[in-house]
Amino acid sequence: MEDYRIQIKARKAVKEKRYINIRSSDGIFSIFIYLGKSQDYIVTSNACTCPSYLFNVILKKKHKYCYHIIGLKYALTAEQITRIMLPINEIRDILIDIYAYGKSLKLRKLMSRKENDFE
Ligand SMILES: [Zn+2]
Repeated sequence: MEDYRIQIKARKAVKEKRYINIRSSDGIFSIFIYLGKSQDYIVTSNACTCPSYLFNVILKKKHKYCYHIIGLKYALTAEQITRIMLPINEIRDILIDIYAYGKSLKLRKLMSRKENDFE
């Protein structure tokens, strides 16, 4: 039952286009970010910076993955990922934002600008 809820949340995250792949302009560095409602997380195919990953996966061993990781797999399969390319110093600023404040305003600004480009 708990696993089913994780699947639902994961699919919802993909539908809401919460996954962003940022690559460095030189092509060397690549990272996936889950853009949350109030918090952003750095996600890989087997780890996540969210509290649920720390408590339920690592400490309690209740689940194998948090829903951000499962969602990332869906997003990759369905190609539902926003891909952006940035200079490495801008990626560094975004990562510092996420580690220091839990979310990146810079990334949010970039994403809203990107959305406006489509209009
Ligand atoms: Zn997570």
